[in-house]
Amino acid sequence: MNSRRNFLQKITFSAVALPFLTENVVAECNETKDKPYDGPPLRVAIMGLGGYGTRVAEAMQSCKRAKLTGVISGTPSKIKDWQAKYNIPDKNCYNYENFDNVKNNPDIDAVYVITPNALHKEQVIRVAKAGKHAICEKPMSVTAKDGREMVEACKKANVKLLVGYRMHFEPKTLEIIRMRKDGELGKILFFQGLCGFKIGDPTQWRLNRELAGGGAMMDIGIYAINGSRYMVGEEPVWVTAQETKTDPVKFKEGVDETIQFQFGFPSGAVASCLSTYNMNNLDRFFLNAEQGFAEMQPSTGYGPIQGRTNKGELMQPHVTHQTVQMDEMAAIILQGKKPIVPVDGEEAVKDLQIIDAIFEAVKSGKKVNL
Ligand code: NAD
Repeated sequence: MNSRRNFLQKITFSAVALPFLTENVVAECNETKDKPYDGPPLRVAIMGLGGYGTRVAEAMQSCKRAKLTGVISGTPSKIKDWQAKYNIPDKNCYNYENFDNVKNNPDIDAVYVITPNALHKEQVIRVAKAGKHAICEKPMSVTAKDGREMVEACKKANVKLLVGYRMHFEPKTLEIIRMRKDGELGKILFFQGLCGFKIGDPTQWRLNRELAGGGAMMDIGIYAINGSRYMVGEEPVWVTAQETKTDPVKFKEGVDETIQFQFGFPSGAVASCLSTYNMNNLDRFFLNAEQGFAEMQPSTGYGPIQGRTNKGELMQPHVTHQTVQMDEMAAIILQGKKPIVPVDGEEAVKDLQIIDAIFEAVKSGKKVNL
Protein backbone atom coordinates (compact mmCIF):
# COMPACT_ATOMS: atom_id res chain seq x y z
CA MET A 1 0.00 0.00 0.00
CA ASN A 2 1.48 3.34 -0.93
CA SER A 3 2.37 5.80 1.77
CA ARG A 4 0.24 8.55 0.22
CA ARG A 5 -2.89 6.54 0.89
CA ASN A 6 -1.84 5.59 4.43
CA PHE A 7 -1.18 9.24 5.17
CA LEU A 8 -4.50 10.23 3.65
CA GLN A 9 -6.41 7.63 5.65
CA LYS A 10 -4.83 8.84 8.89
CA ILE A 11 -5.42 12.55 8.41
CA THR A 12 -8.94 12.24 7.07
CA PHE A 13 -10.34 9.71 9.49
CA SER A 14 -10.80 11.97 12.49
CA ALA A 15 -12.29 14.71 10.35
CA VAL A 16 -14.81 12.45 8.69
CA ALA A 17 -15.69 10.00 11.45
CA LEU A 18 -18.23 12.15 13.31
CA PRO A 19 -20.53 13.14 10.47
CA PHE A 20 -20.49 9.57 9.24
CA LEU A 21 -21.76 8.17 12.52
CA THR A 22 -25.31 9.27 11.77
CA GLU A 23 -27.67 6.87 10.07
CA ASN A 24 -29.80 9.71 8.77
CA VAL A 25 -30.08 8.82 5.14
CA VAL A 26 -30.90 12.26 3.82
CA ALA A 27 -27.95 13.73 5.67
CA GLU A 28 -25.72 10.98 4.29
CA CYS A 29 -26.80 11.66 0.73
CA ASN A 30 -26.61 15.43 1.08
CA GLU A 31 -23.20 15.15 2.59
CA THR A 32 -21.92 13.16 -0.36
CA LYS A 33 -23.58 15.56 -2.75
CA ASP A 34 -22.84 18.88 -1.12
CA LYS A 35 -19.76 18.66 1.04
CA PRO A 36 -16.73 19.66 -0.99
CA TYR A 37 -14.10 16.95 -0.91
CA ASP A 38 -10.65 18.44 -1.02
CA GLY A 39 -8.45 15.33 -0.79
CA PRO A 40 -7.09 13.56 -3.86
CA PRO A 41 -9.67 11.42 -5.67
CA LEU A 42 -9.68 7.64 -5.89
CA ARG A 43 -8.02 6.96 -9.24
CA VAL A 44 -9.80 4.12 -10.99
CA ALA A 45 -9.05 1.99 -14.04
CA ILE A 46 -12.05 0.30 -15.63
CA MET A 47 -11.55 -3.26 -16.91
CA GLY A 48 -14.09 -4.26 -19.59
CA LEU A 49 -15.26 -1.38 -21.77
CA GLY A 50 -18.71 -2.83 -22.59
CA GLY A 51 -22.23 -1.62 -21.92
CA TYR A 52 -22.03 -1.22 -18.17
CA GLY A 53 -18.40 -0.05 -18.14
CA THR A 54 -19.46 2.74 -20.49
CA ARG A 55 -22.29 3.75 -18.15
CA VAL A 56 -19.98 3.78 -15.12
CA ALA A 57 -17.36 5.88 -16.95
CA GLU A 58 -19.96 8.46 -17.96
CA ALA A 59 -21.40 8.63 -14.44
CA MET A 60 -17.90 9.03 -12.98
CA GLN A 61 -17.54 12.33 -14.82
CA SER A 62 -19.78 13.83 -12.09
CA CYS A 63 -17.91 12.23 -9.18
CA LYS A 64 -16.25 14.41 -6.57
CA ARG A 65 -14.04 11.76 -4.99
CA ALA A 66 -13.42 9.26 -7.82
CA LYS A 67 -11.73 9.74 -11.17
CA LEU A 68 -11.28 7.53 -14.21
CA THR A 69 -7.54 7.40 -14.89
CA GLY A 70 -6.99 4.11 -16.72
CA VAL A 71 -8.51 1.42 -18.94
CA ILE A 72 -8.02 -2.31 -19.42
CA SER A 73 -9.45 -3.84 -22.59
CA GLY A 74 -8.76 -6.45 -25.25
CA THR A 75 -9.96 -4.12 -28.01
CA PRO A 76 -7.39 -1.49 -29.09
CA SER A 77 -9.99 0.62 -30.94
CA LYS A 78 -12.08 0.96 -27.76
CA ILE A 79 -9.00 1.99 -25.80
CA LYS A 80 -8.33 4.72 -28.39
CA ASP A 81 -11.90 6.03 -28.18
CA TRP A 82 -11.84 6.10 -24.37
CA GLN A 83 -8.41 7.77 -24.33
CA ALA A 84 -9.77 10.57 -26.50
CA LYS A 85 -13.02 10.92 -24.55
CA TYR A 86 -11.56 10.77 -21.06
CA ASN A 87 -8.06 12.10 -21.64
CA ILE A 88 -6.31 8.89 -20.59
CA PRO A 89 -2.55 8.74 -21.32
CA ASP A 90 -0.98 5.72 -23.06
CA LYS A 91 0.87 4.73 -19.89
CA ASN A 92 -2.49 4.04 -18.14
CA CYS A 93 -3.82 1.66 -20.84
CA TYR A 94 -3.55 -2.11 -20.50
CA ASN A 95 -4.86 -5.29 -22.08
CA TYR A 96 -5.87 -8.58 -20.43
CA GLU A 97 -2.35 -9.98 -20.82
CA ASN A 98 -0.34 -7.14 -19.29
CA PHE A 99 -2.64 -5.55 -16.70
CA ASP A 100 -0.60 -7.05 -13.84
CA ASN A 101 1.73 -4.12 -14.58
CA VAL A 102 -0.74 -1.72 -12.90
CA LYS A 103 1.39 -2.73 -9.93
CA ASN A 104 3.94 -0.13 -11.00
CA ASN A 105 1.47 2.61 -11.91
CA PRO A 106 1.06 5.31 -9.24
CA ASP A 107 -1.86 6.85 -11.23
CA ILE A 108 -4.13 3.91 -10.45
CA ASP A 109 -5.43 3.15 -6.93
CA ALA A 110 -8.23 0.72 -7.85
CA VAL A 111 -9.40 -1.42 -10.75
CA TYR A 112 -13.16 -1.78 -11.43
CA VAL A 113 -13.79 -5.21 -13.03
CA ILE A 114 -16.82 -5.00 -15.37
CA THR A 115 -16.43 -8.14 -17.47
CA PRO A 116 -18.52 -11.34 -17.86
CA ASN A 117 -19.27 -12.95 -14.47
CA ALA A 118 -17.09 -16.05 -14.71
CA LEU A 119 -13.98 -13.94 -15.42
CA HIS A 120 -14.28 -11.84 -12.25
CA LYS A 121 -12.51 -14.28 -9.93
CA GLU A 122 -9.23 -14.56 -11.80
CA GLN A 123 -9.22 -10.87 -12.73
CA VAL A 124 -9.88 -9.65 -9.18
CA ILE A 125 -7.18 -11.93 -7.78
CA ARG A 126 -4.69 -10.54 -10.31
CA VAL A 127 -5.69 -6.98 -9.36
CA ALA A 128 -5.14 -7.82 -5.68
CA LYS A 129 -1.76 -9.38 -6.42
CA ALA A 130 -0.83 -6.14 -8.21
CA GLY A 131 -1.49 -4.35 -4.90
CA LYS A 132 -4.52 -2.39 -6.12
CA HIS A 133 -8.00 -2.19 -4.58
CA ALA A 134 -10.60 -4.20 -6.49
CA ILE A 135 -14.13 -3.08 -7.26
CA CYS A 136 -16.03 -5.91 -8.91
CA GLU A 137 -19.40 -6.10 -10.62
CA LYS A 138 -22.19 -8.35 -9.41
CA PRO A 139 -22.32 -11.31 -9.25
CA MET A 140 -18.87 -11.14 -7.66
CA SER A 141 -18.20 -14.68 -8.94
CA VAL A 142 -20.22 -17.72 -9.91
CA THR A 143 -19.92 -19.82 -6.72
CA ALA A 144 -19.52 -19.01 -3.03
CA LYS A 145 -16.28 -20.99 -3.00
CA ASP A 146 -14.78 -18.76 -5.69
CA GLY A 147 -16.07 -15.71 -3.84
CA ARG A 148 -14.33 -16.79 -0.63
CA GLU A 149 -11.06 -17.22 -2.52
CA MET A 150 -11.40 -13.67 -3.85
CA VAL A 151 -12.01 -12.33 -0.33
CA GLU A 152 -8.96 -14.21 0.95
CA ALA A 153 -6.73 -12.99 -1.90
CA CYS A 154 -7.68 -9.36 -1.25
CA LYS A 155 -7.14 -9.76 2.50
CA LYS A 156 -3.75 -11.30 1.90
CA ALA A 157 -2.76 -8.47 -0.42
CA ASN A 158 -4.10 -5.90 2.06
CA VAL A 159 -6.41 -4.31 -0.50
CA LYS A 160 -10.14 -3.63 -0.32
CA LEU A 161 -12.68 -5.68 -2.29
CA LEU A 162 -15.95 -3.88 -3.02
CA VAL A 163 -18.86 -5.04 -5.16
CA GLY A 164 -21.04 -2.88 -7.43
CA TYR A 165 -24.18 -3.04 -5.29
CA ARG A 166 -25.40 0.38 -6.43
CA MET A 167 -28.81 0.03 -4.70
CA HIS A 168 -27.03 0.13 -1.34
CA PHE A 169 -26.56 3.87 -1.90
CA GLU A 170 -29.97 4.66 -3.46
CA PRO A 171 -31.89 7.21 -1.35
CA LYS A 172 -35.43 5.71 -1.52
CA THR A 173 -34.05 2.24 -0.77
CA LEU A 174 -32.11 3.66 2.18
CA GLU A 175 -35.22 5.44 3.49
CA ILE A 176 -37.13 2.15 3.65
CA ILE A 177 -34.15 0.55 5.41
CA ARG A 178 -34.15 3.47 7.88
CA MET A 179 -37.88 3.06 8.55
CA ARG A 180 -37.41 -0.64 9.13
CA LYS A 181 -34.42 -0.12 11.44
CA ASP A 182 -36.21 2.61 13.39
CA GLY A 183 -39.17 0.29 13.97
CA GLU A 184 -41.61 2.44 11.99
CA LEU A 185 -42.87 -0.60 10.05
CA GLY A 186 -43.05 -2.91 13.06
CA LYS A 187 -42.22 -6.59 12.78
CA ILE A 188 -41.30 -7.59 9.22
CA LEU A 189 -43.49 -10.40 7.91
CA PHE A 190 -43.07 -10.83 4.16
CA PHE A 191 -40.95 -9.72 1.19
CA GLN A 192 -41.67 -10.19 -2.48
CA GLY A 193 -39.01 -9.48 -5.13
CA LEU A 194 -39.80 -9.79 -8.84
CA CYS A 195 -36.82 -9.30 -11.13
CA GLY A 196 -36.62 -10.04 -14.81
CA PHE A 197 -36.57 -9.01 -18.43
CA LYS A 198 -36.91 -10.72 -21.79
CA ILE A 199 -33.39 -11.33 -23.02
CA GLY A 200 -32.59 -10.88 -26.74
CA ASP A 201 -29.60 -12.09 -28.76
CA PRO A 202 -29.17 -15.83 -28.06
CA THR A 203 -25.41 -15.64 -28.81
CA GLN A 204 -24.54 -13.14 -26.04
CA TRP A 205 -22.28 -14.15 -23.14
CA ARG A 206 -25.19 -13.86 -20.66
CA LEU A 207 -26.62 -17.06 -22.22
CA ASN A 208 -23.28 -18.88 -22.22
CA ARG A 209 -22.86 -20.88 -19.04
CA GLU A 210 -19.07 -20.81 -19.26
CA LEU A 211 -19.01 -17.01 -19.09
CA ALA A 212 -22.21 -16.25 -17.16
CA GLY A 213 -22.08 -19.03 -14.55
CA GLY A 214 -25.83 -19.56 -15.01
CA GLY A 215 -28.66 -17.54 -16.48
CA ALA A 216 -31.16 -15.03 -15.13
CA MET A 217 -30.38 -15.81 -11.48
CA MET A 218 -26.75 -14.64 -11.66
CA ASP A 219 -27.67 -11.54 -13.63
CA ILE A 220 -31.02 -10.25 -12.39
CA GLY A 221 -32.36 -12.70 -9.78
CA ILE A 222 -29.47 -11.63 -7.57
CA TYR A 223 -31.26 -8.29 -7.07
CA ALA A 224 -34.20 -10.09 -5.43
CA ILE A 225 -31.81 -12.12 -3.26
CA ASN A 226 -29.77 -9.13 -2.18
CA GLY A 227 -32.93 -7.00 -1.86
CA SER A 228 -34.68 -9.53 0.35
CA ARG A 229 -31.69 -9.37 2.71
CA TYR A 230 -31.52 -5.58 3.00
CA MET A 231 -35.28 -5.09 3.05
CA VAL A 232 -36.02 -7.78 5.67
CA GLY A 233 -32.77 -7.05 7.53
CA GLU A 234 -31.99 -10.70 8.22
CA GLU A 235 -30.17 -13.60 6.58
CA PRO A 236 -32.34 -16.44 5.24
CA VAL A 237 -32.04 -19.79 7.01
CA TRP A 238 -33.75 -21.93 4.39
CA VAL A 239 -34.43 -21.85 0.67
CA THR A 240 -36.85 -23.64 -1.65
CA ALA A 241 -36.84 -23.13 -5.42
CA GLN A 242 -38.57 -24.27 -8.61
CA GLU A 243 -37.38 -23.81 -12.19
CA THR A 244 -39.47 -23.43 -15.35
CA LYS A 245 -37.92 -23.61 -18.81
CA THR A 246 -40.08 -22.83 -21.85
CA ASP A 247 -37.22 -22.50 -24.38
CA PRO A 248 -34.50 -25.12 -23.88
CA VAL A 249 -32.81 -24.10 -27.14
CA LYS A 250 -32.16 -20.53 -26.02
CA PHE A 251 -31.69 -21.46 -22.34
CA LYS A 252 -29.35 -24.43 -22.45
CA GLU A 253 -28.36 -26.80 -19.65
CA GLY A 254 -27.12 -24.75 -16.71
CA VAL A 255 -28.61 -21.48 -18.03
CA ASP A 256 -31.73 -20.77 -15.97
CA GLU A 257 -34.65 -19.04 -17.65
CA THR A 258 -37.18 -18.67 -14.81
CA ILE A 259 -36.76 -19.64 -11.15
CA GLN A 260 -39.23 -18.97 -8.36
CA PHE A 261 -37.66 -19.17 -4.91
CA GLN A 262 -38.70 -18.77 -1.31
CA PHE A 263 -36.75 -17.89 1.85
CA GLY A 264 -37.41 -18.31 5.54
CA PHE A 265 -35.77 -15.92 8.03
CA PRO A 266 -34.96 -16.49 11.72
CA SER A 267 -37.74 -14.13 12.88
CA GLY A 268 -40.33 -16.16 10.99
CA ALA A 269 -40.54 -13.65 8.11
CA VAL A 270 -40.73 -15.24 4.65
CA ALA A 271 -39.89 -14.14 1.11
CA SER A 272 -41.20 -15.18 -2.28
CA CYS A 273 -39.24 -14.14 -5.38
CA LEU A 274 -39.09 -14.57 -9.13
CA SER A 275 -36.05 -14.38 -11.40
CA THR A 276 -36.52 -14.56 -15.16
CA TYR A 277 -35.03 -13.88 -18.58
CA ASN A 278 -38.38 -14.38 -20.26
CA MET A 279 -40.79 -11.70 -18.94
CA ASN A 280 -40.66 -7.93 -19.18
CA ASN A 281 -41.86 -5.32 -16.66
CA LEU A 282 -40.60 -7.21 -13.63
CA ASP A 283 -38.78 -4.83 -11.33
CA ARG A 284 -40.80 -4.77 -8.15
CA PHE A 285 -40.20 -5.07 -4.39
CA PHE A 286 -42.93 -5.33 -1.76
CA LEU A 287 -42.32 -5.48 1.98
CA ASN A 288 -45.15 -6.22 4.38
CA ALA A 289 -44.90 -5.63 8.12
CA GLU A 290 -47.14 -5.58 11.16
CA GLN A 291 -47.48 -1.80 11.18
CA GLY A 292 -46.99 -0.87 7.56
CA PHE A 293 -45.65 -1.70 4.13
CA ALA A 294 -43.22 -0.48 1.49
CA GLU A 295 -43.37 -1.00 -2.22
CA MET A 296 -41.01 -0.04 -5.03
CA GLN A 297 -41.53 -0.20 -8.76
CA PRO A 298 -39.10 0.20 -10.42
CA SER A 299 -37.04 -1.14 -7.54
CA THR A 300 -33.57 -1.84 -8.93
CA GLY A 301 -33.38 -0.33 -12.44
CA TYR A 302 -31.21 2.69 -13.15
CA GLY A 303 -34.05 4.89 -11.98
CA PRO A 304 -35.73 7.02 -11.13
CA ILE A 305 -36.75 4.47 -8.51
CA GLN A 306 -40.33 4.95 -7.38
CA GLY A 307 -41.81 3.83 -4.13
CA ARG A 308 -44.35 4.40 -1.44
CA THR A 309 -44.99 3.22 2.06
CA ASN A 310 -48.07 3.25 4.27
CA LYS A 311 -47.01 6.86 5.05
CA GLY A 312 -47.14 7.95 1.41
CA GLU A 313 -44.95 8.51 -1.64
CA LEU A 314 -41.16 8.36 -1.17
CA MET A 315 -39.83 11.78 -2.18
CA GLN A 316 -36.05 11.32 -1.93
CA PRO A 317 -34.33 12.79 -5.01
CA HIS A 318 -33.19 10.69 -7.95
CA VAL A 319 -29.43 10.35 -8.10
CA THR A 320 -27.32 8.74 -10.82
CA HIS A 321 -26.64 5.46 -9.06
CA GLN A 322 -23.15 4.93 -10.43
CA THR A 323 -22.00 8.47 -9.54
CA VAL A 324 -23.06 8.09 -5.92
CA GLN A 325 -21.73 4.54 -5.74
CA MET A 326 -18.27 5.56 -6.93
CA ASP A 327 -18.10 8.61 -4.65
CA GLU A 328 -19.17 6.45 -1.71
CA MET A 329 -16.71 3.70 -2.62
CA ALA A 330 -13.95 6.31 -2.76
CA ALA A 331 -14.93 7.38 0.76
CA ILE A 332 -14.88 3.74 1.90
CA ILE A 333 -11.43 3.15 0.42
CA LEU A 334 -9.79 6.51 1.11
CA GLN A 335 -11.50 7.52 4.33
CA GLY A 336 -12.60 4.28 5.94
CA LYS A 337 -16.28 5.23 5.69
CA LYS A 338 -18.75 2.51 6.72
CA PRO A 339 -21.70 2.21 4.33
CA ILE A 340 -25.21 1.69 5.76
CA VAL A 341 -25.52 -1.59 3.85
CA PRO A 342 -22.17 -3.36 3.29
CA VAL A 343 -20.72 -3.57 -0.23
CA ASP A 344 -17.68 -5.71 0.56
CA GLY A 345 -16.63 -9.14 -0.62
CA GLU A 346 -18.15 -10.88 2.42
CA GLU A 347 -21.53 -9.32 1.57
CA ALA A 348 -21.24 -10.71 -1.96
CA VAL A 349 -20.32 -14.18 -0.66
CA LYS A 350 -23.64 -14.21 1.26
CA ASP A 351 -25.55 -13.74 -2.01
CA LEU A 352 -23.43 -16.41 -3.72
CA GLN A 353 -24.10 -18.92 -0.93
CA ILE A 354 -27.81 -18.33 -1.44
CA ILE A 355 -27.48 -18.76 -5.22
CA ASP A 356 -25.63 -22.06 -4.64
CA ALA A 357 -28.49 -23.13 -2.34
CA ILE A 358 -31.18 -22.09 -4.86
CA PHE A 359 -29.53 -24.18 -7.59
CA GLU A 360 -29.28 -27.10 -5.15
CA ALA A 361 -32.96 -26.73 -4.21
CA VAL A 362 -33.98 -26.65 -7.90
CA LYS A 363 -32.05 -29.86 -8.51
CA SER A 364 -33.23 -31.77 -5.45
CA GLY A 365 -36.72 -30.31 -5.16
CA LYS A 366 -36.05 -30.12 -1.42
CA LYS A 367 -35.78 -27.39 1.18
CA VAL A 368 -32.10 -26.43 1.62
CA ASN A 369 -30.95 -25.13 4.97
CA LEU A 370 -28.38 -22.35 5.00
P1 NAD B 1 -21.07 -6.29 -21.95
O1 NAD B 1 -21.16 -7.50 -22.80
O2 NAD B 1 -21.74 -5.04 -22.43
O3 NAD B 1 -19.54 -5.92 -21.66
C1 NAD B 1 -18.62 -6.90 -21.25
C2 NAD B 1 -17.23 -6.45 -21.59
O4 NAD B 1 -16.31 -7.46 -21.23
C3 NAD B 1 -17.04 -6.18 -23.10
O5 NAD B 1 -16.36 -4.98 -23.28
C4 NAD B 1 -16.21 -7.36 -23.56
O6 NAD B 1 -15.37 -7.01 -24.65
C5 NAD B 1 -15.40 -7.66 -22.31
N1 NAD B 1 -14.86 -9.02 -22.27
C6 NAD B 1 -13.65 -9.33 -21.81
N2 NAD B 1 -13.41 -10.64 -21.93
C7 NAD B 1 -14.50 -11.17 -22.53
C8 NAD B 1 -14.85 -12.49 -22.92
N3 NAD B 1 -14.00 -13.53 -22.75
N4 NAD B 1 -16.06 -12.68 -23.46
C9 NAD B 1 -16.93 -11.67 -23.62
N5 NAD B 1 -16.65 -10.38 -23.26
C10 NAD B 1 -15.43 -10.15 -22.71
O7 NAD B 1 -21.62 -6.70 -20.52
P2 NAD B 1 -22.06 -5.71 -19.35
O8 NAD B 1 -23.52 -5.51 -19.41
O9 NAD B 1 -21.18 -4.52 -19.36
O10 NAD B 1 -21.78 -6.63 -18.06
C11 NAD B 1 -20.48 -6.75 -17.49
C12 NAD B 1 -20.60 -7.05 -15.99
O11 NAD B 1 -21.28 -5.97 -15.37
C13 NAD B 1 -21.41 -8.29 -15.65
O12 NAD B 1 -20.84 -8.95 -14.54
C14 NAD B 1 -22.78 -7.77 -15.28
O13 NAD B 1 -23.48 -8.60 -14.36
C15 NAD B 1 -22.42 -6.45 -14.65
N6 NAD B 1 -23.50 -5.45 -14.78
C16 NAD B 1 -23.90 -4.81 -13.67
C17 NAD B 1 -24.91 -3.86 -13.73
C18 NAD B 1 -25.33 -3.11 -12.50
O14 NAD B 1 -26.33 -2.41 -12.57
N7 NAD B 1 -24.60 -3.21 -11.42
C19 NAD B 1 -25.53 -3.61 -14.95
C20 NAD B 1 -25.09 -4.27 -16.08
C21 NAD B 1 -24.07 -5.21 -15.98
